[in-house]
Amino acid sequence: MRVLFVASEVVPWCKTGGLADVAGALPRALRDADGVEAAVFLPLFPQAREHARAAGIELEPTDASARVHLSGRWEEGRFWAHRPAGGVPHFFLEHEGFYAREGIYGDRNDQPYPDNAFRFAFLCRAVLEAGAQLAGGPPDVVHVHDWQTGLLPVYMRSEGVWPRARVVYTIHNLAYQGVFPKQVFPGLGLDWSLFRSEQLEFYDQVNLLKGGVAFADAVTTVSPTYAEEIQTPERGEALDGFLRHHARRLHGILNGLDAAERTPPFTDLAEKAALRAALLEELGLPAGDEPLLGVVSRFAHQKGLDLVAGLVAELEVLGARLVVLGSGDPGLVATFQGFAAEYPERLAVRVGFDAALARRIVAGSDLFLVPSRFEPCGLTQQQAMAFGTPPVVHGVGGLRDTVREGETGFVFGAPTVEALRGAVVRAVALFREDPAGWERVQRQAMARDASWGASAEAYLELYRELVAEA
Ligand code: ADP
Repeated sequence: MRVLFVASEVVPWCKTGGLADVAGALPRALRDADGVEAAVFLPLFPQAREHARAAGIELEPTDASARVHLSGRWEEGRFWAHRPAGGVPHFFLEHEGFYAREGIYGDRNDQPYPDNAFRFAFLCRAVLEAGAQLAGGPPDVVHVHDWQTGLLPVYMRSEGVWPRARVVYTIHNLAYQGVFPKQVFPGLGLDWSLFRSEQLEFYDQVNLLKGGVAFADAVTTVSPTYAEEIQTPERGEALDGFLRHHARRLHGILNGLDAAERTPPFTDLAEKAALRAALLEELGLPAGDEPLLGVVSRFAHQKGLDLVAGLVAELEVLGARLVVLGSGDPGLVATFQGFAAEYPERLAVRVGFDAALARRIVAGSDLFLVPSRFEPCGLTQQQAMAFGTPPVVHGVGGLRDTVREGETGFVFGAPTVEALRGAVVRAVALFREDPAGWERVQRQAMARDASWGASAEAYLELYRELVAEA
Protein backbone atom coordinates (compact mmCIF):
# COMPACT_ATOMS: atom_id res chain seq x y z
CA MET A 1 0.00 0.00 0.00
CA ARG A 2 1.46 3.36 -1.02
CA VAL A 3 0.66 6.14 1.45
CA LEU A 4 1.54 9.79 0.82
CA PHE A 5 1.69 12.11 3.80
CA VAL A 6 1.44 15.83 3.22
CA ALA A 7 2.01 18.24 6.11
CA SER A 8 3.25 21.77 6.68
CA GLU A 9 5.62 20.72 9.47
CA VAL A 10 7.43 17.46 10.09
CA VAL A 11 9.89 16.51 12.85
CA PRO A 12 12.89 16.73 12.72
CA TRP A 13 12.77 19.23 9.83
CA CYS A 14 10.54 21.93 11.20
CA LYS A 15 8.11 22.13 14.06
CA THR A 16 5.77 24.46 15.84
CA GLY A 17 3.51 21.88 17.51
CA GLY A 18 2.25 18.35 17.88
CA LEU A 19 1.32 18.07 14.19
CA ALA A 20 5.02 17.96 13.36
CA ASP A 21 5.61 15.14 15.83
CA VAL A 22 2.84 13.06 14.29
CA ALA A 23 3.88 13.75 10.70
CA GLY A 24 7.42 12.72 11.62
CA ALA A 25 6.63 9.61 13.64
CA LEU A 26 3.58 8.03 12.03
CA PRO A 27 5.13 7.38 8.59
CA ARG A 28 8.08 5.72 10.28
CA ALA A 29 5.84 3.60 12.50
CA LEU A 30 3.83 2.58 9.43
CA ARG A 31 6.93 1.71 7.48
CA ASP A 32 7.63 -0.82 10.18
CA ALA A 33 4.25 -2.38 9.42
CA ASP A 34 4.07 -4.90 6.62
CA GLY A 35 3.46 -3.74 3.10
CA VAL A 36 3.32 0.03 3.64
CA GLU A 37 5.37 2.29 1.42
CA ALA A 38 5.21 5.76 2.92
CA ALA A 39 6.47 9.06 1.50
CA VAL A 40 6.28 12.48 3.14
CA PHE A 41 5.83 15.86 1.42
CA LEU A 42 6.50 19.22 3.06
CA PRO A 43 7.67 22.74 2.19
CA LEU A 44 11.37 23.51 2.14
CA PHE A 45 11.48 26.01 4.99
CA PRO A 46 14.79 27.52 6.13
CA GLN A 47 14.47 25.41 9.31
CA ALA A 48 14.59 22.26 7.17
CA ARG A 49 17.72 23.42 5.34
CA GLU A 50 19.23 24.28 8.69
CA HIS A 51 18.43 20.85 10.09
CA ALA A 52 19.91 19.17 7.02
CA ARG A 53 23.09 21.21 7.39
CA ALA A 54 23.40 20.49 11.10
CA ALA A 55 22.76 16.78 10.58
CA GLY A 56 25.20 16.56 7.66
CA ILE A 57 22.40 15.58 5.27
CA GLU A 58 22.70 16.64 1.66
CA LEU A 59 19.26 17.06 0.09
CA GLU A 60 19.25 15.74 -3.48
CA PRO A 61 17.71 17.71 -6.31
CA THR A 62 14.95 15.89 -8.21
CA ASP A 63 13.56 16.54 -11.66
CA ALA A 64 10.06 16.88 -10.25
CA SER A 65 8.64 20.36 -10.33
CA ALA A 66 5.30 22.08 -10.20
CA ARG A 67 3.82 25.03 -12.01
CA VAL A 68 0.65 26.33 -10.46
CA HIS A 69 -1.64 29.21 -11.36
CA LEU A 70 -2.46 31.07 -8.16
CA SER A 71 -3.88 34.50 -7.61
CA GLY A 72 -3.35 35.53 -11.22
CA ARG A 73 0.27 34.38 -11.57
CA TRP A 74 2.20 31.25 -12.35
CA GLU A 75 4.13 29.99 -9.36
CA GLU A 76 6.90 27.50 -9.87
CA GLY A 77 8.67 25.25 -7.48
CA ARG A 78 10.73 22.12 -7.47
CA PHE A 79 11.23 19.22 -5.13
CA TRP A 80 14.30 18.18 -3.21
CA ALA A 81 14.59 14.74 -1.70
CA HIS A 82 15.98 12.97 1.30
CA ARG A 83 15.88 9.19 0.85
CA PRO A 84 17.56 7.57 3.82
CA ALA A 85 18.53 3.95 3.26
CA GLY A 86 15.75 1.76 4.62
CA GLY A 87 13.83 4.84 5.77
CA VAL A 88 10.88 6.95 4.68
CA PRO A 89 11.64 9.26 1.74
CA HIS A 90 10.88 12.94 2.31
CA PHE A 91 10.25 15.42 -0.49
CA PHE A 92 10.70 19.14 0.09
CA LEU A 93 8.96 21.70 -2.06
CA GLU A 94 11.18 24.67 -2.77
CA HIS A 95 9.70 28.09 -3.45
CA GLU A 96 11.78 30.97 -2.20
CA GLY A 97 8.98 33.53 -2.30
CA PHE A 98 6.57 31.39 -0.30
CA TYR A 99 8.77 29.49 2.11
CA ALA A 100 12.11 31.25 2.65
CA ARG A 101 10.75 33.33 5.51
CA GLU A 102 11.52 33.69 9.16
CA GLY A 103 8.52 31.87 10.59
CA ILE A 104 6.53 28.98 9.21
CA TYR A 105 3.11 30.65 9.42
CA GLY A 106 3.85 34.17 10.52
CA ASP A 107 6.40 36.81 11.32
CA ARG A 108 8.29 37.23 14.56
CA ASN A 109 5.29 38.90 16.19
CA ASP A 110 3.17 35.86 15.41
CA GLN A 111 1.23 37.81 12.77
CA PRO A 112 0.09 35.32 10.12
CA TYR A 113 1.42 36.00 6.62
CA PRO A 114 -1.31 37.52 4.46
CA ASP A 115 -0.72 35.03 1.63
CA ASN A 116 -0.94 31.87 3.77
CA ALA A 117 -3.86 30.48 1.78
CA PHE A 118 -1.76 30.62 -1.39
CA ARG A 119 1.44 29.36 0.23
CA PHE A 120 -0.26 26.15 1.30
CA ALA A 121 -2.52 25.84 -1.74
CA PHE A 122 0.75 25.72 -3.66
CA LEU A 123 1.93 22.77 -1.58
CA CYS A 124 -1.32 20.87 -2.24
CA ARG A 125 -1.26 21.51 -5.98
CA ALA A 126 2.42 20.68 -6.29
CA VAL A 127 1.98 17.32 -4.53
CA LEU A 128 -0.94 16.48 -6.82
CA GLU A 129 1.24 17.34 -9.82
CA ALA A 130 4.45 15.60 -8.84
CA GLY A 131 3.61 13.25 -5.97
CA ALA A 132 3.08 10.10 -8.05
CA GLN A 133 6.31 10.67 -10.00
CA LEU A 134 8.31 11.09 -6.78
CA ALA A 135 6.66 8.30 -4.82
CA GLY A 136 7.01 5.76 -7.63
CA GLY A 137 3.35 5.65 -8.63
CA PRO A 138 -0.08 6.91 -7.69
CA PRO A 139 -0.99 6.51 -4.04
CA ASP A 140 -3.52 4.18 -2.49
CA VAL A 141 -3.95 6.55 0.43
CA VAL A 142 -3.23 10.25 0.79
CA HIS A 143 -3.06 11.33 4.42
CA VAL A 144 -3.22 15.08 4.93
CA HIS A 145 -3.16 17.19 8.08
CA ASP A 146 -4.83 20.36 9.36
CA TRP A 147 -6.01 23.40 7.44
CA GLN A 148 -2.75 23.84 5.55
CA THR A 149 -3.52 20.75 3.47
CA GLY A 150 -7.31 21.07 3.51
CA LEU A 151 -7.33 22.04 -0.15
CA LEU A 152 -5.63 18.85 -1.28
CA PRO A 153 -8.76 16.68 -1.03
CA VAL A 154 -10.76 19.52 -2.59
CA TYR A 155 -8.52 19.79 -5.67
CA MET A 156 -8.07 16.04 -5.83
CA ARG A 157 -11.78 15.22 -5.87
CA SER A 158 -13.11 18.18 -7.78
CA GLU A 159 -10.54 17.66 -10.54
CA GLY A 160 -10.49 13.86 -10.55
CA VAL A 161 -6.81 13.41 -9.69
CA TRP A 162 -5.89 9.90 -8.43
CA PRO A 163 -9.47 8.67 -8.57
CA ARG A 164 -8.64 5.35 -6.92
CA ALA A 165 -6.82 6.87 -3.95
CA ARG A 166 -8.56 7.31 -0.59
CA VAL A 167 -8.02 10.45 1.47
CA VAL A 168 -7.62 10.62 5.23
CA TYR A 169 -7.80 14.08 6.77
CA THR A 170 -6.51 14.52 10.32
CA ILE A 171 -7.56 17.41 12.52
CA HIS A 172 -4.81 18.06 15.04
CA ASN A 173 -6.47 21.11 16.55
CA LEU A 174 -9.89 22.38 15.56
CA ALA A 175 -9.03 25.83 16.89
CA TYR A 176 -6.98 26.46 13.75
CA GLN A 177 -9.20 26.23 10.69
CA GLY A 178 -7.47 28.31 8.04
CA VAL A 179 -10.20 30.93 7.59
CA PHE A 180 -9.62 33.55 4.88
CA PRO A 181 -11.64 36.34 3.29
CA LYS A 182 -13.69 35.11 0.37
CA GLN A 183 -11.76 37.37 -1.98
CA VAL A 184 -9.00 34.72 -2.05
CA PHE A 185 -11.40 32.10 -3.39
CA PRO A 186 -11.02 32.56 -7.16
CA GLY A 187 -7.28 33.04 -6.75
CA LEU A 188 -7.09 29.54 -5.29
CA GLY A 189 -8.40 28.19 -8.58
CA LEU A 190 -11.68 27.09 -7.06
CA ASP A 191 -15.06 27.25 -8.67
CA TRP A 192 -17.67 29.35 -6.82
CA SER A 193 -19.93 26.29 -6.80
CA LEU A 194 -17.72 24.97 -3.97
CA PHE A 195 -18.39 28.08 -1.90
CA ARG A 196 -21.33 26.69 0.05
CA SER A 197 -21.88 25.79 3.65
CA GLU A 198 -21.49 22.02 3.14
CA GLN A 199 -18.07 22.64 1.61
CA LEU A 200 -15.75 25.63 1.92
CA GLU A 201 -18.03 28.48 2.95
CA PHE A 202 -18.01 29.55 6.60
CA TYR A 203 -19.86 32.73 7.63
CA ASP A 204 -19.16 34.20 4.20
CA GLN A 205 -15.46 33.38 4.46
CA VAL A 206 -13.34 30.52 3.13
CA ASN A 207 -12.58 27.74 5.60
CA LEU A 208 -9.88 25.36 4.37
CA LEU A 209 -10.38 22.82 7.16
CA LYS A 210 -14.02 22.47 6.12
CA GLY A 211 -12.90 21.73 2.59
CA GLY A 212 -10.63 18.96 3.87
CA VAL A 213 -13.37 17.38 5.95
CA ALA A 214 -15.99 17.68 3.20
CA PHE A 215 -13.86 15.97 0.55
CA ALA A 216 -11.98 13.37 2.59
CA ASP A 217 -13.05 9.73 2.76
CA ALA A 218 -12.27 9.55 6.47
CA VAL A 219 -11.59 12.21 9.07
CA THR A 220 -9.56 11.52 12.14
CA THR A 221 -8.64 13.49 15.19
CA VAL A 222 -6.03 12.74 17.76
CA SER A 223 -7.98 11.25 20.66
CA PRO A 224 -11.31 9.48 21.12
CA THR A 225 -12.57 12.05 23.64
CA TYR A 226 -11.67 15.00 21.39
CA ALA A 227 -13.52 13.29 18.52
CA GLU A 228 -16.65 13.43 20.68
CA GLU A 229 -16.00 16.91 22.09
CA ILE A 230 -15.68 18.61 18.71
CA GLN A 231 -19.24 17.55 17.91
CA THR A 232 -20.55 19.67 20.79
CA PRO A 233 -21.31 23.40 20.74
CA GLU A 234 -18.85 24.02 23.61
CA ARG A 235 -15.83 22.59 21.81
CA GLY A 236 -16.96 22.52 18.20
CA GLU A 237 -15.48 25.94 17.31
CA ALA A 238 -18.65 26.73 15.32
CA LEU A 239 -18.22 23.55 13.25
CA ASP A 240 -19.99 21.12 15.60
CA GLY A 241 -23.05 20.81 13.38
CA PHE A 242 -20.90 20.27 10.31
CA LEU A 243 -18.84 17.65 12.15
CA ARG A 244 -21.94 15.88 13.50
CA HIS A 245 -23.05 15.62 9.90
CA HIS A 246 -19.78 13.78 9.14
CA ALA A 247 -19.78 11.80 12.41
CA ARG A 248 -19.88 8.40 10.74
CA ARG A 249 -16.56 9.10 9.03
CA LEU A 250 -14.93 10.65 12.13
CA HIS A 251 -12.49 8.59 14.21
CA GLY A 252 -10.33 9.35 17.26
CA ILE A 253 -6.87 7.80 17.29
CA LEU A 254 -4.42 8.75 20.04
CA ASN A 255 -0.96 9.95 19.13
CA GLY A 256 1.97 7.92 20.32
CA LEU A 257 5.42 9.18 21.18
CA ASP A 258 8.61 8.64 19.25
CA ALA A 259 11.13 6.37 20.94
CA ALA A 260 13.46 9.31 21.58
CA GLU A 261 10.68 11.24 23.32
CA ARG A 262 9.46 8.45 25.54
CA THR A 263 12.81 6.99 26.55
CA PRO A 264 13.74 8.59 29.86
CA PRO A 265 17.25 9.99 30.27
CA PHE A 266 17.86 7.47 33.07
CA THR A 267 17.71 3.71 33.45
CA ASP A 268 16.46 3.62 37.00
CA LEU A 269 13.97 5.86 38.75
CA ALA A 270 16.53 6.42 41.51
CA GLU A 271 18.62 8.41 39.03
CA LYS A 272 15.88 11.00 38.69
CA ALA A 273 17.09 12.66 41.89
CA ALA A 274 20.37 13.67 40.26
CA LEU A 275 18.57 15.14 37.23
CA ARG A 276 16.28 17.04 39.55
CA ALA A 277 19.19 18.47 41.54
CA ALA A 278 20.98 19.50 38.34
CA LEU A 279 17.82 21.15 37.04
CA LEU A 280 17.28 23.14 40.24
CA GLU A 281 20.85 24.33 40.08
CA GLU A 282 20.58 25.25 36.39
CA LEU A 283 17.43 27.25 37.13
CA GLY A 284 18.93 28.98 40.16
CA LEU A 285 16.27 27.55 42.47
CA PRO A 286 17.18 26.38 45.96
CA ALA A 287 17.93 22.70 46.44
CA GLY A 288 15.73 20.68 48.78
CA ASP A 289 12.76 18.36 49.06
CA GLU A 290 9.94 20.71 48.16
CA PRO A 291 8.22 19.37 45.05
CA LEU A 292 9.13 21.02 41.76
CA LEU A 293 6.22 21.61 39.40
CA GLY A 294 7.13 21.78 35.71
CA VAL A 295 5.41 23.42 32.75
CA VAL A 296 6.49 23.25 29.08
CA SER A 297 3.93 24.82 26.81
CA ARG A 298 2.98 27.24 24.14
CA PHE A 299 1.68 30.39 25.81
CA ALA A 300 -1.77 30.34 24.29
CA HIS A 301 -5.22 30.69 25.82
CA GLN A 302 -5.84 27.00 25.07
CA LYS A 303 -3.05 25.91 27.39
CA GLY A 304 -4.55 27.47 30.53
CA LEU A 305 -1.32 29.04 31.73
CA ASP A 306 -3.33 31.85 33.28
CA LEU A 307 -4.49 29.17 35.75
CA VAL A 308 -0.86 28.39 36.55
CA ALA A 309 -0.23 32.12 36.95
CA GLY A 310 -3.10 32.12 39.46
CA LEU A 311 -1.21 29.60 41.59
CA VAL A 312 2.12 31.42 41.73
CA ALA A 313 1.29 33.53 44.78
CA GLU A 314 0.35 30.32 46.62
CA LEU A 315 3.52 28.37 45.93
CA GLU A 316 4.86 29.30 49.34
CA VAL A 317 1.78 27.97 51.13
CA LEU A 318 1.78 24.88 48.93
CA GLY A 319 5.44 24.35 49.73
CA ALA A 320 6.23 23.89 46.06
CA ARG A 321 8.39 25.42 43.37
CA LEU A 322 7.65 25.98 39.72
CA VAL A 323 9.54 26.11 36.46
CA VAL A 324 7.85 27.39 33.30
CA LEU A 325 9.28 27.09 29.78
CA GLY A 326 7.32 28.47 26.89
CA SER A 327 6.79 31.16 24.34
CA GLY A 328 3.91 32.89 22.64
CA ASP A 329 1.41 35.37 24.04
CA PRO A 330 3.44 38.47 25.03
CA GLY A 331 1.06 39.32 27.88
CA LEU A 332 1.62 35.92 29.52
CA VAL A 333 5.36 36.15 28.96
CA ALA A 334 5.38 39.48 30.78
CA THR A 335 3.19 38.12 33.60
CA PHE A 336 5.49 35.18 34.23
CA GLN A 337 8.64 37.27 33.96
CA GLY A 338 7.17 39.69 36.49
CA PHE A 339 6.40 36.81 38.87
CA ALA A 340 9.88 35.37 38.43
CA ALA A 341 11.35 38.68 39.58
CA GLU A 342 8.94 38.80 42.51
CA TYR A 343 9.41 35.18 43.67
CA PRO A 344 12.97 34.23 42.66
CA GLU A 345 13.14 31.40 45.23
CA ARG A 346 9.87 29.87 44.05
CA LEU A 347 9.68 30.35 40.34
CA ALA A 348 12.01 30.08 37.34
CA VAL A 349 10.81 31.19 33.92
CA ARG A 350 12.52 30.54 30.59
CA VAL A 351 11.09 32.10 27.45
CA GLY A 352 11.74 30.49 24.09
CA PHE A 353 11.62 27.16 22.33
CA ASP A 354 14.31 24.86 23.66
CA ALA A 355 13.84 21.12 23.17
CA ALA A 356 16.82 20.11 25.31
CA LEU A 357 15.70 22.24 28.25
CA ALA A 358 12.13 20.97 27.80
CA ARG A 359 13.45 17.45 28.21
CA ARG A 360 15.45 18.36 31.32
CA ILE A 361 12.35 19.95 32.84
CA VAL A 362 10.11 16.98 32.06
CA ALA A 363 12.68 14.59 33.52
CA GLY A 364 13.81 16.67 36.50
CA SER A 365 10.46 17.93 37.82
CA ASP A 366 8.38 16.05 40.38
CA LEU A 367 5.01 16.97 38.90
CA PHE A 368 4.06 18.26 35.48
CA LEU A 369 1.14 20.65 34.95
CA VAL A 370 -1.09 20.54 31.85
CA PRO A 371 -4.13 22.69 32.64
CA SER A 372 -5.27 23.06 28.99
CA ARG A 373 -8.82 24.33 28.49
CA PHE A 374 -9.04 21.83 25.67
CA GLU A 375 -6.42 19.41 24.40
CA PRO A 376 -6.85 17.38 21.21
CA CYS A 377 -4.26 14.82 22.34
CA GLY A 378 -1.32 16.37 24.14
CA LEU A 379 2.19 15.04 24.00
CA THR A 380 3.75 16.62 27.06
CA GLN A 381 1.63 14.74 29.61
CA GLN A 382 2.52 11.47 27.87
CA GLN A 383 6.19 12.34 27.92
CA ALA A 384 5.96 13.33 31.59
CA MET A 385 4.42 9.95 32.45
CA ALA A 386 7.13 8.13 30.49
CA PHE A 387 9.75 10.05 32.49
CA GLY A 388 8.18 9.21 35.86
CA THR A 389 6.84 12.74 36.38
CA PRO A 390 3.15 12.35 37.20
CA PRO A 391 1.09 14.96 35.35
CA VAL A 392 -1.69 17.11 36.79
CA VAL A 393 -4.16 17.58 33.94
CA HIS A 394 -7.54 19.06 33.15
CA GLY A 395 -9.67 16.01 32.25
CA VAL A 396 -10.51 16.89 28.66
CA GLY A 397 -9.64 15.49 25.23
CA GLY A 398 -6.50 13.44 25.06
CA LEU A 399 -5.59 14.39 28.63
CA ARG A 400 -8.62 12.47 29.81
CA ASP A 401 -7.79 9.54 27.53
CA THR A 402 -4.20 9.20 28.73
CA VAL A 403 -4.06 10.04 32.46
CA ARG A 404 -5.74 8.02 35.23
CA GLU A 405 -6.48 9.85 38.48
CA GLY A 406 -4.40 8.50 41.35
CA GLU A 407 -2.90 5.80 39.12
CA THR A 408 -0.70 7.59 36.60
CA GLY A 409 -1.36 11.22 37.50
CA PHE A 410 -3.96 13.65 38.77
CA VAL A 411 -7.04 14.87 36.95
CA PHE A 412 -9.18 17.91 37.69
CA GLY A 413 -12.60 18.65 36.32
CA ALA A 414 -12.88 22.35 35.48
CA PRO A 415 -10.55 24.96 33.98
CA THR A 416 -10.32 27.04 37.16
CA VAL A 417 -7.52 27.97 39.55
CA GLU A 418 -9.46 26.29 42.37
CA ALA A 419 -9.74 22.98 40.54
CA LEU A 420 -6.09 23.06 39.53
CA ARG A 421 -5.11 23.92 43.11
CA GLY A 422 -7.19 21.00 44.42
CA ALA A 423 -5.35 18.53 42.20
CA VAL A 424 -1.95 20.02 43.03
CA VAL A 425 -2.75 19.77 46.74
CA ARG A 426 -3.71 16.08 46.31
CA ALA A 427 -0.53 15.39 44.40
CA VAL A 428 1.75 17.28 46.80
CA ALA A 429 0.18 15.48 49.77
CA LEU A 430 0.90 12.08 48.24
CA PHE A 431 4.42 13.17 47.29
CA ARG A 432 5.15 14.29 50.88
CA GLU A 433 3.27 11.83 52.99
CA ASP A 434 3.38 8.56 51.12
CA PRO A 435 6.68 7.98 49.30
CA ALA A 436 5.74 4.38 48.48
CA GLY A 437 2.37 5.46 47.06
CA TRP A 438 4.12 8.19 45.10
CA GLU A 439 6.61 5.78 43.63
CA ARG A 440 3.76 3.46 42.67
CA VAL A 441 2.15 6.30 40.66
CA GLN A 442 5.49 7.06 39.03
CA ARG A 443 6.05 3.43 38.07
CA GLN A 444 2.52 3.00 36.75
CA ALA A 445 2.94 6.15 34.69
CA MET A 446 6.23 4.87 33.28
CA ALA A 447 4.71 1.49 32.48
CA ARG A 448 2.05 3.04 30.24
CA ASP A 449 2.55 2.13 26.57
CA ALA A 450 3.18 5.45 24.80
CA SER A 451 4.66 3.91 21.67
CA TRP A 452 3.29 4.48 18.19
CA GLY A 453 2.61 0.77 17.75
CA ALA A 454 -1.08 0.70 18.66
CA SER A 455 -1.87 4.01 16.94
CA ALA A 456 -0.08 3.04 13.73
CA GLU A 457 -2.05 -0.20 13.77
CA ALA A 458 -5.31 1.77 14.09
CA TYR A 459 -4.42 4.04 11.16
CA LEU A 460 -3.39 1.06 9.10
CA GLU A 461 -6.68 -0.65 9.77
CA LEU A 462 -8.51 2.49 8.69
CA TYR A 463 -6.46 2.71 5.48
CA ARG A 464 -7.18 -0.95 4.73
CA GLU A 465 -10.91 -0.50 5.21
CA LEU A 466 -10.93 2.53 2.93
CA VAL A 467 -8.89 0.84 0.25
CA ALA A 468 -11.10 -2.25 0.41
CA GLU A 469 -14.18 -0.06 -0.15
CA ALA A 470 -12.60 1.75 -3.10
P1 ADP B 1 0.68 21.61 20.99
O1 ADP B 1 0.94 20.85 19.74
O2 ADP B 1 -0.73 22.08 21.14
O3 ADP B 1 1.65 22.73 21.24
P2 ADP B 1 1.41 19.13 22.35
O4 ADP B 1 1.47 18.78 23.79
O5 ADP B 1 0.64 18.21 21.47
O6 ADP B 1 0.86 20.62 22.25
O7 ADP B 1 2.88 19.19 21.74
C1 ADP B 1 3.77 20.18 22.12
C2 ADP B 1 5.16 19.72 21.85
O8 ADP B 1 6.01 20.85 21.76
C3 ADP B 1 5.73 18.87 22.96
O9 ADP B 1 6.64 17.92 22.41
C4 ADP B 1 6.46 19.88 23.84
O10 ADP B 1 7.52 19.34 24.58
C5 ADP B 1 6.98 20.83 22.82
N1 ADP B 1 7.13 22.21 23.31
C6 ADP B 1 6.16 23.11 23.58
N2 ADP B 1 6.69 24.28 23.97
C7 ADP B 1 8.03 24.13 23.97
C8 ADP B 1 9.14 24.98 24.28
N3 ADP B 1 8.97 26.24 24.67
N4 ADP B 1 10.39 24.48 24.13
C9 ADP B 1 10.57 23.20 23.73
N5 ADP B 1 9.57 22.35 23.44
C10 ADP B 1 8.32 22.79 23.54
